[in-house]
Amino acid sequence: MLQVADLTVRYGELLAVDEVDLSLQRDETLALLGRSGSGKTTVLRAIAGLVPIVSGTITLDGIDLGPIPPHQRGIGLVFQDFALFPHLDVGDNVGYGLRMQGAADADGRVEEALAMVGLEGLQRRRTDQLSGGQAQRVALARTLAPRPRLLLLDEPLGSLDPALRRTLAEELKALLDRTGVPAIIVTHDTEEAFALGDRVTVLVEGRAAATGPPAQIWNEPRTAEVARIVGHVGIMTATVADGIAVVDGFQVPISAPDGTATLLIRPGAATIGGPIAATVISSRYRGPDWVATVALGDGSIEVSSPEPVSGGEPIDIGIDPTGVTTLA
Ligand code: ADP
Ligand code: MG
Repeated sequence: MLQVADLTVRYGELLAVDEVDLSLQRDETLALLGRSGSGKTTVLRAIAGLVPIVSGTITLDGIDLGPIPPHQRGIGLVFQDFALFPHLDVGDNVGYGLRMQGAADADGRVEEALAMVGLEGLQRRRTDQLSGGQAQRVALARTLAPRPRLLLLDEPLGSLDPALRRTLAEELKALLDRTGVPAIIVTHDTEEAFALGDRVTVLVEGRAAATGPPAQIWNEPRTAEVARIVGHVGIMTATVADGIAVVDGFQVPISAPDGTATLLIRPGAATIGGPIAATVISSRYRGPDWVATVALGDGSIEVSSPEPVSGGEPIDIGIDPTGVTTLA
């Protein structure tokens, strides 16, 4: 229902978004994942019509949004800090935009939006008497009240502490599924992107470097940059000859031309005990086991160990070849 093609945005000389393609199906949540400064907010601002675009097209339900001003695009935006009005109660916060527009049946739509987020009966509550989670839901209700066709959420959990973030991510996912409004959620947190997105688009320096379901992005990140952003560790250079990649004492068949290739060894693929003689760099406790970081080629891999091992110790490891993939 949303199609973004070839989107390019500049701030003066700075190329903030570089020929990005995105699409969103009905009832789908897309997570936009990337480091700070990768252009995530700018993509949302462009879709909302809040920043001029250099080139590209944005269509919503088959209509080109280019000539349509922001307030007529039918898009709801939720920002990181929620920005609820402290002097207004919950109901007036949710109804603020509707009443400004002189919408018919504002009261009914406020009730409807509060019911959607499970806050019926809290209309007259002061916003400074809300928990973090409730405040987030009020912000969402305020955005849902005008019945947007598309929701854009910019780091909606960004200002909350980590424990609350995890609970609220689950709550938000359930809520978005329930409202059925398609949404794009921006985050720099991989776990959050994977929890919230039916699909994930990874932005690297303004470019869409990968798009796919979370498991696909995790298992086949395609480029080293995407692998690092989603939290992979085991990335290293191999020498390839006759379809065999070699890194130190590890050999694995791959389909790549002779020369060098970048390998990703996924977590869990390496285990203690095996034919590869390697050296421990360090180890740390991550219940219920220790995690040893082991040097391999110009990179390292993590190996689960039942006991602590010290930096500099020799270690014999095995690597399951099915846990290895090549990166561009
Ligand atoms: P993200 O949301 O992923 O952190 P942004 O979209 O905010 O990234 O920013 C992308 C790039 O554009 C960054 O280099 C940022 O410094 C720059 N930028 C963002 N907003 C402006 C602006 N209003 N004027 C100039 N540069 C900007
Ligand atoms: Mg941002």
